[in-house]
Amino acid sequence: MRLYLNVPYAEKDAAKALGARWNPKIKKWYADVPREQYIKFAKWILRDTDDAMIATNHIFIVEGQQPCWKCHQSTRVVGLGVSEYIHIFDAGDGPQYELIESDPDEELHLAWADHEEYIPPKLRKYLMEKYSVRTGYSKTLRGKCFANHCDHCGALQGNWFLFNEPDSPLMLMYLDELVEQASKLNIFKIPIEDDLQLDWEVGFCSTDYAYFKYGQCEELVLSGNPENKSTSYEDLYNLR
Ligand SMILES: [Zn+2]
Repeated sequence: MRLYLNVPYAEKDAAKALGARWNPKIKKWYADVPREQYIKFAKWILRDTDDAMIATNHIFIVEGQQPCWKCHQSTRVVGLGVSEYIHIFDAGDGPQYELIESDPDEELHLAWADHEEYIPPKLRKYLMEKYSVRTGYSKTLRGKCFANHCDHCGALQGNWFLFNEPDSPLMLMYLDELVEQASKLNIFKIPIEDDLQLDWEVGFCSTDYAYFKYGQCEELVLSGNPENKSTSYEDLYNLR
């Protein structure tokens, strides 16, 4: 499996010695090893953090509706999602590898990123063209954030509400309303060719099985290559 790494020039020999490969076309190092061996490259995966998420196979867009807090009309809102992913973390005693497995289409974990640079450019462009998603000013955060906006009046629909509050249409928190709520969600499944390290906040909930079980799921091809439905790293980051 292929995972692109952020290797500074000064560290290229160390990465090469561990078996990293060079893609001259996009000038980037990558690991091309079985996933459990990604841990060898933890130095470049973890960088400034002690916790990294690497999506495998698919990433998702979850689309729901909510009444706008300002104009009260129903507006579309979206979240991101992952199913199976790799967690690489260091709790102080060296890097650890954990595969958060999901049998095909079994569970979806809702995700989001407050900063637009954390979303691969091709996916970000798709979101911004299809939905009222953009970087806006949040009065609550007193700063910029990548967020949904009302389709009608343009008011920012807060990330905290959508991704943390039980009343969010994207979060399936109430068991007695689970089926009804999940069946209103449209889920777009984007096949990815390379594993992707993403700085997304990923939620985890015991009801995460309900997205696929009751939601309307369809495949979304972002790949620019008609012969391959899976989108590559180069494609998602506009490096082709
Ligand atoms: Zn509105």
